[in-house]
Amino acid sequence: MQEYQDDGVTLLCDFCHKAWDGQAAMVEGHHGSIICLPCLKAALAEAKPSAGKYQCTLCLRVNIPGSLPHWSTEAHPQAVACEECLHLSAAAMTKAPHAEFQWEPPAENI
Ligand SMILES: [Zn+2]
Ligand SMILES: [Zn+2]
Repeated sequence: MQEYQDDGVTLLCDFCHKAWDGQAAMVEGHHGSIICLPCLKAALAEAKPSAGKYQCTLCLRVNIPGSLPHWSTEAHPQAVACEECLHLSAAAMTKAPHAEFQWEPPAENI
């Protein structure tokens, strides 16, 4: 997310609200939404389904069935990431030269 201040705009991770220092690995979603690497790692490990529907903060899709795995934090539960965004972000992060991060897409089991 973006936070407007007198001296400019600060970018914050939508999920942990840590300010981006311009260096750390992160992935940008729609409308300036951001997920940082520590959040992404946690999200990939912890994403799970729940009841009800949700809106994804990163792709802005709404009414996503809760049966599709998603992730949010207790501190900032209004920010939710859908599994598709997590996988896209993980793939992007894997390619980023400065991010020490490797991610293998899960095998499709249809
Ligand atoms: Zn974060
Ligand atoms: Zn999404």
